[in-house]
Amino acid sequence: MSRYTGPACRLCRAEGGKLFLKGDRCFTEKCAITRREKDKKTPGAPKGKMRAKVSEYGIRLREKQKLRRYYGMNETQFRRFFQEANDMPGQTGHNFLQLLERRLDNVAYRLGYGISRRQARQLVMHGHFRINGKKVDIPSYLVSAGDNISIVERSREIQFLKENAEVAASRHIPEWLQYSAENMEGKVLSIPTREQIDVPVTEQLVVEFYAR
Ligand code: SF4
Repeated sequence: MSRYTGPACRLCRAEGGKLFLKGDRCFTEKCAITRREKDKKTPGAPKGKMRAKVSEYGIRLREKQKLRRYYGMNETQFRRFFQEANDMPGQTGHNFLQLLERRLDNVAYRLGYGISRRQARQLVMHGHFRINGKKVDIPSYLVSAGDNISIVERSREIQFLKENAEVAASRHIPEWLQYSAENMEGKVLSIPTREQIDVPVTEQLVVEFYAR
């Protein structure tokens, strides 16, 4: 199954909530979901169509789709990650989220190299990153505690990467990561705990979806 390349906001509208797929725009009034919520609160505004009652299966399916879209993965790859999480000791849901968070495209986004996961993935695929000094261009590469993530020398002068690095310095970086704006370098301090992963889903529903 191919990866969705259409408008990102359409995915949020389909899931009925913010998936934060467009970087800083998602935190502004321009966000389609924020606008819609505002319109609903406007007295006299049309209420729009009522959503049909969703089955138990539908609830789990939607939660799975939400998580998959949040990380911008296709179904085949997403299911492979789930299988890997299921084979690991411990709670499958937590394992799954940890694996998804450890993907290099996600880490590049969390560190602020890209304004969205989609942009961060492009940057990875175009070979802009080194892990511990070695070039890595695989978005699904899993980082480990202690890994150093840097930008290859020739890419350091790319204007938007420089601008992103400046913005990243003022952004909240998750506690399990560290970022040095001066060197444009990131470090994985530890594997994230569940509390350190802020995804808008209930992972147990995703586990139940695949366990059916
Ligand atoms: Fe679009 Fe971001 Fe809002 Fe989603 S959260 S609707 S991607 S602006």
